Amino acid sequence: MTDPAPGSSPVLSYRGVDVTYPGGGHAARGIDLDVAAGECLALVGESGCGKTTIARAAVGLLPPGTRVSGSIRVRGVEVVGAGPRTLRALRGRAIGYVGQDPYAACNPLHRVGGHVAEAWRALALRPPPGGVGSALAALGIADPAVTARRHPHEWSGGMLQRATIAAAAAHDPPVIVADEPTTALDADRADGVLAGLRATGAGVLLVSHDLLAVAGHADRVAVCYAGRVVETGPTADVLDRPRHPYTRALLAATPRPGAGLPEPLPGTPPPPTDTGPGCPFAQRCPEADADCHTLAPGLEDDLACHHR
Ligand code: SF4
Repeated sequence: MTDPAPGSSPVLSYRGVDVTYPGGGHAARGIDLDVAAGECLALVGESGCGKTTIARAAVGLLPPGTRVSGSIRVRGVEVVGAGPRTLRALRGRAIGYVGQDPYAACNPLHRVGGHVAEAWRALALRPPPGGVGSALAALGIADPAVTARRHPHEWSGGMLQRATIAAAAAHDPPVIVADEPTTALDADRADGVLAGLRATGAGVLLVSHDLLAVAGHADRVAVCYAGRVVETGPTADVLDRPRHPYTRALLAATPRPGAGLPEPLPGTPPPPTDTGPGCPFAQRCPEADADCHTLAPGLEDDLACHHR
């Protein structure tokens, strides 16, 4: 289980969470996670490793027919099995959501200020006088009275993503779930967006495949593989001294400025319908032995691997 920072109670917690898609694929299994007030926990891993599913389960944004079991609490309120009224009451006030593509999040025919004002209208409120401008200014957007009147196509991707963060943070929710918020951005803009997320002061559950960005902004990291957390801990520990073979492979595959060519990860993750025995990484793991193909390791001491 990921432990929050000492002395702080979690604003978001998962206990024994399983997610099964309508076709029977297990997208997440036995997830135990905590996000403490004001900290950033990054979920990292390849595409299809389950990190987005795990994050979206907290905001009730999974496809119809998806089964979620276990417990997910947002500041103590249970999300699993919650009805639409409870979820509506939580969204915006207790938990904000930032998606991958800010252009998709904004109506292209509406001004960006209108998109931010939606954060109030969704709760049947009027934005307070100057509220939209203040929300944008808090995310470092200059001259918000003017820029808020522009349409999304007149904004850069990085600035527009900051506007969606402003909307997500408009009511100071204790938790923000950010699903690959920097995917389409270059390193400088990604840095600005992640700094903006941290500046909200919320506990952030950050989904990312960008280990370099995570290294600069997350307090803790949970490495996901085949719908499980396989290694977790403080960011510097996990990224500087990785213990799991998958974490080491991910880091070796990460392009770095000035470094040589990265080593591509061999093979592909198992499909979510694969319920065979053994470690789910065994087919790709250079350290696999006979036990690895028959016994699935559990997460103990923040590591799911037979070889310690
Ligand atoms: S349990 Fe075995 S196959 Fe799985 S990561 Fe560890 S060494 Fe590799």
